[in-house]
Amino acid sequence: MKIGFIGLGNMGNPMAANLAKAGHDVVGFDMADVDVAGVTLSSSGAEAAGGADIVITMLPNGQILRAVADDILPAMNSGSVWIDCSTVDVDSARAVADQAAQAGVLAVDAPVSGGIGGAAAGTLTFMAGGSDVAFGKAAPLFEIMGQKAVHCGGSGAGQAAKICNNMILGVTMIATCEAFALADKLGLDRQKMFDVVSTSSGYSWTMNAYCPAPGVGPSSPSDNDYQPGFAAELMLKDLRLSQQAAESSDADTPLGQAATALYQQFVESEDGLGKDFSAMLPRFEKRGRS
Ligand code: NAD
Repeated sequence: MKIGFIGLGNMGNPMAANLAKAGHDVVGFDMADVDVAGVTLSSSGAEAAGGADIVITMLPNGQILRAVADDILPAMNSGSVWIDCSTVDVDSARAVADQAAQAGVLAVDAPVSGGIGGAAAGTLTFMAGGSDVAFGKAAPLFEIMGQKAVHCGGSGAGQAAKICNNMILGVTMIATCEAFALADKLGLDRQKMFDVVSTSSGYSWTMNAYCPAPGVGPSSPSDNDYQPGFAAELMLKDLRLSQQAAESSDADTPLGQAATALYQQFVESEDGLGKDFSAMLPRFEKRGRS
C-alpha cells in the first residue's frame, strides 16, 4: 500500500518505520529535519499525501491538525483513507472529519496509548472513531503499529475515549502520590503500603503497574529518577483537553479540574517540566498542608 505519513516526531517516526518494515511504500513529511528508516521524505504534506491509499498524521495539537487538513485534503484521492493518530480536542477531530467527508476522504480519529516504547515495539493501543468502512480499511495498519484497536463509535469517539481514560489516569496518579506522601508522614513503610494497597480496594494501574515510589513495585520511571515515561506536560495537555471537552459538553468534572490545576502548577511554576507525571510524589513529599 502507498502510505503518506505526516508528523515524524517521537511517536510518528517509529510508527512510520514499522509500516515501512512491514513492506509498505511510505512517503513522509515533517517540518523538522528528520530521518526515518525505510521512509522516503517529501518536501510538503500535500506531496506526501498526494496519490496515497492511506494518509496518517501524528501531530502536536488540533490547531496544527486543522492547518494540515487544509493542506492535504485537496491533494488526496477520493476514496482514500486518512487516519489521524494525534491526541487533539474532540471538536477539531470532528471538524476535520467533516472536511474530509466533503473531499470524499474516509476519516478515522485514532489516538494511541502506549507511548514511545509502544510506538517502537509496534504494541500501541488505538482508540478509533469513524465509519465501519473507514475503520475496516485502517485496521490492517493498526495491526502493524499496535496490538489492539477498539472501534469506539463515530468521528471524535476515539479522542473522547482517550481523554476520558487520561483524565482517570491523571486523577488516579495524584491520589496515589498523595496517599504515599500521607503514608510517609504516618510512618508507614512504602513497601508495606504497596503490599496492602496493590491487593486491596485502593489498587489501580498507577499503583500496581507504574508505582510512583522508587524501588517499590514493578520497574517504572520513578526508578530512573523520574525520566519520562509519560511527561508531566503531556499529562497536562490531555487534562486540558478533558476540561475543554467538559466545558463544551457541559459535563461536571471537579476532580479532572483539580488535577488539571495541579499539573499546571507542577509544570509551569514548580520543577515538573520534563519529568515523568509520577514525579508528583516527590512534589507532595516535600510539602505540608499549607
Ligand atoms: P513530537 O513533538 O515529538 O512530534 C510531532 C511532530 O510533528 C514534530 O516532529 C513536528 O516537527 C511535526 N510537525 C508539527 N507541525 C507540522 C506540520 N504542519 N507538518 C508536518 N509536521 C509537523 O510529538 P510526539 O510525542 O510524537 O506526539 C505526537 C502526538 O501523539 C501528540 O498529539 C501527543 O499528544 C500524542 N501522544 C504522544 C505520546 C508520547 O508518549 N509521546 C503518547 C500518546 C500520544
